[in-house]
Amino acid sequence: MGSFCMLTRTRCVLRQVLLGPYTAMERTYSLDVSARLLRTEGFVDGRWISAASTFPVSDPATGEELAKVADCGPTEAKLAVDAAYKAFYIWKRYTAKERSALLRKWFDLMTLHKEDLAKLITFESGKPMRESLGEIGYSAAFVEWFSEEARRMYGDIVPSPAKDRKILLLKQPVGVASIITPWNFPSAMITRKVGAALAAGCTVVVKPAEDTPLSALALAELSAEAGIPAGVFNVVPCSREKTPSVGEVLCTDPLVQKVSFTGSTATGKILLKHAAGTVKRVSMELGGNAPFIVFDSADVDKAVAGAMNSKFRNSGQTCVCANRFLVQSGIYDRFTEKLGQAMDAELRLGHGSEPTTTQGPLINVNAAKKVMHQISDAVSQGAKVLRGGKRLEGSFMQPTLLADVTTDMLCTQEETFGPLVPVIRFNTEEEALAIANACHMGLAGYFFSQDISQIWRVAEALEVGMVGVNEGLLSTVESCFGGVKQSGLGSEGSKYGIKEYLDIKYMCFGGLTP
Ligand code: ADP
Repeated sequence: MGSFCMLTRTRCVLRQVLLGPYTAMERTYSLDVSARLLRTEGFVDGRWISAASTFPVSDPATGEELAKVADCGPTEAKLAVDAAYKAFYIWKRYTAKERSALLRKWFDLMTLHKEDLAKLITFESGKPMRESLGEIGYSAAFVEWFSEEARRMYGDIVPSPAKDRKILLLKQPVGVASIITPWNFPSAMITRKVGAALAAGCTVVVKPAEDTPLSALALAELSAEAGIPAGVFNVVPCSREKTPSVGEVLCTDPLVQKVSFTGSTATGKILLKHAAGTVKRVSMELGGNAPFIVFDSADVDKAVAGAMNSKFRNSGQTCVCANRFLVQSGIYDRFTEKLGQAMDAELRLGHGSEPTTTQGPLINVNAAKKVMHQISDAVSQGAKVLRGGKRLEGSFMQPTLLADVTTDMLCTQEETFGPLVPVIRFNTEEEALAIANACHMGLAGYFFSQDISQIWRVAEALEVGMVGVNEGLLSTVESCFGGVKQSGLGSEGSKYGIKEYLDIKYMCFGGLTP
């Protein structure tokens, strides 16, 4: 097994003390992974395929090119759909136990190669290595979970109103699923969907985000090594320019029965329109704008720890990251002071492969500019900068803490997707709930309180799909993940995730002699 070593050389901002002056240092970072896991072509019908052109994939920390990847277009997308359609008639005939065993093998291979898979995530997305390893554990756990769920897709036998009839409800796979995924979890957003789809007996075509195709292609290699048959798992990487035309094939081709997407609400709306033309089933995991409420009764240290976990994971680039911090007057000063101290003590910027790094770069310069725009807007309307507030080299952002924030400011109206903590002051529970729910999004929400009646009231009243009570991290394969309002449709993970890939067929046995 050869080793492929790719050196990225750059002048990069590293190991700087979070809020002090930073030193720019010359360093070299090398993406050193097994050659067979560093794939740069599309994967269709069990074969690696090239395309007419390539697109570059870069390390967001350094801007250096990591690889040139096949820029698949509508032609390759159609080939992939046809391959998946053909494979569906083979895969759905596998017994649940056979599918389960192959998924389990895929899980084992992911676990075996977790270091290499994590390095790919770190280099293509900027995520610190510790978090990338965490993502691979999470990503593989979906494959493991659905390998187990595959064997529990029970149907029903329903008491019949007629003596000469029996009623059966069968669960059957919907068919080919198109899977479109984002860059912030380059591996886990694929397996959360594909694990469920394959367990159900569906076949898939995956279009990974243009920033992070390498993780998807490594998964394809391991799926083949696990023995998952040709055409069951296909990957068509493509550039941002080719994305709309590839997306259109994947969401309009009549051979596709299901579209599952994770990404922005704006893109989700485009894909919903595409899918409507041929009445495809859809699952949409879209944007969030999570409220994080700290009531006077909260344990302030737990609230600060929850805020650190919820806000700064992946430098604030997850759809469940706390976005709007609502803190009650009696605890406001203590919370902001302690949170500032925790930021000073715990956050270190740098290249994700440095063991000390907790905060990598944002995915690109535009992402950093968006955060800066929100900070300038807030400051121009009277917010006070308690920590950070600046953009550094490239797409590195200082983790930022703002006090005296109001609901008029952009940072509370839009999803930030960056390391910004805007803190709003409130006086009553009703006021906090009114602010939290005055939002078109409803993915995650968090609150900290030690008053048991308040806990029930607030947990039930928050208009979100997932709620963390005295807890800042809530995603796990065993539970469901999904939003309400414009945060999406459907649910992933848990015992419900597989239902997104199943139809229920009513079978009526008639003419029986009682
Ligand atoms: P972000 O702005 O964070 O990149 P997007 O929703 O644009 O979020 O991207 C999420 C995924 O959706 C990526 O794989 C991206 O390539 C894809 N995507 C974006 N626009 C389209 C489109 N018009 N059709 C299909 N896929 C799209």
